[in-house]
Amino acid sequence: MKAMTFVLFGATGDLAKRKIFPALFNLYVDQKLPASYAIVGVGRRTYTVAEFLRSVEQSVSDAAQRREVDSSCIHAFLSTIRYVSVDVTQKDDYLALLGQVIQCEQEWNLPQNRLFYLSVAPEFFDVIAGHIKASGLCETTGWKRLIIEKPFGRDLQSAEALNEKLCASFAEEEIYRIDHYLGKPMVRNLEAIEFANPIFQAIWNNKYIANVQITANETVGVEDRAGYYDHAGALRDMVQNHMLQLLMMIAMHLPNRINAKEIRKEKRKVMEAVRPMETEDVMRSVVRGQYGAGNLQGHSVVSYRDEPGVEADSMTDTFVALRVWIDDPLWSGVPFYIRTGKRIKEKSTKIIIEFKNPLEGSYRNQQTAPNLLILNINPEEGISLQVNQKNAAERGKLEPVTVDFSTDASQAPEAYELLLSDAIQGDSTYFAHWMEVKLAWKWVTPILEAFAQNQVPLHVYPAGSYGPQESAELLMEQGFSWWQDEEREREMSGVHSR
Ligand code: NAD
Repeated sequence: MKAMTFVLFGATGDLAKRKIFPALFNLYVDQKLPASYAIVGVGRRTYTVAEFLRSVEQSVSDAAQRREVDSSCIHAFLSTIRYVSVDVTQKDDYLALLGQVIQCEQEWNLPQNRLFYLSVAPEFFDVIAGHIKASGLCETTGWKRLIIEKPFGRDLQSAEALNEKLCASFAEEEIYRIDHYLGKPMVRNLEAIEFANPIFQAIWNNKYIANVQITANETVGVEDRAGYYDHAGALRDMVQNHMLQLLMMIAMHLPNRINAKEIRKEKRKVMEAVRPMETEDVMRSVVRGQYGAGNLQGHSVVSYRDEPGVEADSMTDTFVALRVWIDDPLWSGVPFYIRTGKRIKEKSTKIIIEFKNPLEGSYRNQQTAPNLLILNINPEEGISLQVNQKNAAERGKLEPVTVDFSTDASQAPEAYELLLSDAIQGDSTYFAHWMEVKLAWKWVTPILEAFAQNQVPLHVYPAGSYGPQESAELLMEQGFSWWQDEEREREMSGVHSR
């Protein structure tokens, strides 16, 4: 690992406090940072270095307690951190930043390897990248990299404009677009499950797989993000980025080699093969929902439109379900169902692969449940496989049972830790390549337009449910249903029949 200077724009913000500094601290404790490095925090506020370090100390205190490290370890970590107050819109302020970076490089004898992390509002992404270049911060004798937070544009046009501006200062291979779903250990594990297990490799195709269900449900509502969310909605906030990334990860073909370049190439091929939607397809294959009032975990909660900061007549989608077809020989005829929603009965991110069931009814005249491979991503992490077996106590009646391989999620590193460590090492495998982002925006454009023109009904679902009934009907059209929703659990407690 090469010595470097880590420049964090937005160092006084919420993300820096909650995620980035704790992640850097954990990497430090685990000796996963370079042997020598400096961190330069950049914020608008005029803090003294001592004041800033006090706030960093607070943000790493939980991690420090969990890791049971003593105060000398915290102070050693803090000793590598400096702070500069910069108004990111003012070009002259960047000279002070450049001065601080050079001073760190001289003080700690660091090569000019510079990693810039933009943890600021998206309207500043291009402004900062431009000023980094104009100020000379980009002119290094070592490497330079740019980590950029989400959202990457709000439609295809704005994403293209942003990318063009970033590319004026950084090359594509220097840009690390964060999609924190790609930092989740189980999402990174998908590649190993598919490609390191010959038994799964052999059946990872339309001959054996009936359908794939990708779910990312939350119990929380809009919280305090209405200002952003009411103009974004679930399609922009979740589907264009995270859900399509999960789709690419689960549907990609075996790469020639397991490395960043080849994995990203295969992911891109998936997005290129996803069947485009015309307006009529959107009406047939997309369900739009918004939560109404309801009861969740014993508490009554208000409707989306009654949330603070939300327009009283808002048509924003807080739930989307989609049926997606991938037109390539491996997946032809296999529906991929995607859904994501807020104020859903239970928090769950998972992928369920339902295998074809040619035995149905033909095994000793008994119904058999399909085999399911369940990949739990959040909050639990692990893999389950549903298989059929005889229940000896019930005169050999067939019953589906699940074989569980759970991992202790509390021991796994946080997404931001893994992503930061990758970027520091120059590994871009789990960052979104521009082509993935562009193809994803292109694919959702007709859906965004159909939503904007209200061509798709907005179904109100009660908070605390599994979303609108129309989402279940979307699967029923092919004779399927969402696995593991409450009703399914009940159904599964007896012999499954469909
Ligand atoms: P925030 O509003 O809490 O922090 C913004 C930071 O930008 C602050 O450090 C502030 O000082 C700085 N800033 C604002 N205007 C400035 C200016 N003119 N000059 C210099 N600095 C300025 O925002 P956040 O929640 O930390 O989010 C940062 C980024 O991360 C955003 O792009 C957001 O979309 C993304 N993100 C945040 C979260 C989260 O949980 N907070 C999750 C995912 C993505």
